[in-house]
Amino acid sequence: MELKPVIGLEIHCQLLTKTKLFCSCPTDYVGREPNTIVCPVCLGLPGSLPVLNKEALKLALRAALALNCTILKKTRFHRKNYFYPDLPKAYQISQYDIPLAVNGYLVIDGKRIRIRRVHMEEDAGKLVHPTKTGRLEGAEYSLVDFNRCGVPLIEIVTEPDISSPEEARNFVMELRSLVQHLGVSDGNMEEGSLRCDANISISVDGKFGTKTEIKNMNSFKAIERALAYEINRHMEVILSGGEVIQETRHWDDSKGITTSLRGKEEAHDYRYFPEPDLLPLFISDEMVSEISKTMPELPWDRRNRWKMDFGLGDYEVFVLSSSKVLGDFFDACVREIGKPKEVSNWIQVELLRIVDDLRLKIEDCYFAIPYLKEVLELLEKGVINNQVAKAVFEESIRERRAPIDIVKSKGLEQVSDEEALKDAVKRVLEENEDAVKSYLSGKDKAFNFLLGQVMKVTKGKANPAVVRKVLEEELKALS
Ligand SMILES: [Zn+2]
Repeated sequence: MELKPVIGLEIHCQLLTKTKLFCSCPTDYVGREPNTIVCPVCLGLPGSLPVLNKEALKLALRAALALNCTILKKTRFHRKNYFYPDLPKAYQISQYDIPLAVNGYLVIDGKRIRIRRVHMEEDAGKLVHPTKTGRLEGAEYSLVDFNRCGVPLIEIVTEPDISSPEEARNFVMELRSLVQHLGVSDGNMEEGSLRCDANISISVDGKFGTKTEIKNMNSFKAIERALAYEINRHMEVILSGGEVIQETRHWDDSKGITTSLRGKEEAHDYRYFPEPDLLPLFISDEMVSEISKTMPELPWDRRNRWKMDFGLGDYEVFVLSSSKVLGDFFDACVREIGKPKEVSNWIQVELLRIVDDLRLKIEDCYFAIPYLKEVLELLEKGVINNQVAKAVFEESIRERRAPIDIVKSKGLEQVSDEEALKDAVKRVLEENEDAVKSYLSGKDKAFNFLLGQVMKVTKGKANPAVVRKVLEEELKALS
């Protein structure tokens, strides 16, 4: 019996418009007082009429074109009817039988993942539930905030072409990087401007199995973990002779499990019908070609440029293109400093860690570019060694202080003078008789220990190459 995971994704992406999809309320709801950016249209009050936001349409088309989709020339909006407290109209304006675009693809690690459709729709509001420590602590009710109602989204639906949790994660990473490069969405998963649901089934000897849908995966890691959990769960059910039930399941990130949320809805549950307040939408060839002509550099173009012009490897360009802000920062560094290989290395190994430790954002780190330049120069001239360079770079960012100042005020210049290092080496040899004996009896490992001790007594400032040379000479003299 051959069991294979079959995964399809549905991704909602908030479009970067200033105003909502069908009214002129602003879209920046994060951190706003609840229910302060609403109007009769997005609250669905009687007599109000929606008007399509043209900028949202352009952004949606840009995303669809970058995803290699066919744009449908005549499209329309539908009402998707359902009751939920965060949906004041009791329907969502979405697209149903004729989406904006169909039949695209995105390439992940050389494999084409087909895109079934890209359509536009409006977002719903948000419920604020009581929590143990936060808002509404101890309350016996929930509150509703309609600020998000009517915020423009695109939904991107893939074919079930994804065959592992890692591939699903890589797909969402690439899609996020793409919408960021396009200026279509900020792709922020924590704030919910990029949300991912997944459909999973297991094919048995090539025959499709029953699907479950997973919701509430709020990070790349959650996507990978939730899918791995669900694949295992399906396989266990199948191997024990049971049947997978078609349903929607909720990913609980803290417990690391999925739980049953509700039976899966079918399209007819939503009683879709054409939105009578909006005319059908005709997309002109001029509009499409105008958008095609103004496409920015896309992640895969960027990666190719870095490989061709800078000689970077596959993994490096993958990391650097994982978000637009990181790629922009790298390009700015290379413009300022040159040395793309070294710069790439320092960003990936040092800067990303420092940014994480200090809770900074990459886009706020442009001040550090001259620091990096100076650190690399100090290294090149042999003023400091590699170990010191790393510490100085971190301190320069933390204290916003020029690396050369830090080096001078702390006396961190590298010691390369053989005579000066000889004293330190001799002292270490005297204090570590056991290690010396063990080295002389043929245990090479002891050499690195002794070298480490010399670096320690010189407070990391010694030139390691010179220490190595002096240490070899002194040990030779003892043997
Ligand atoms: Zn409004």
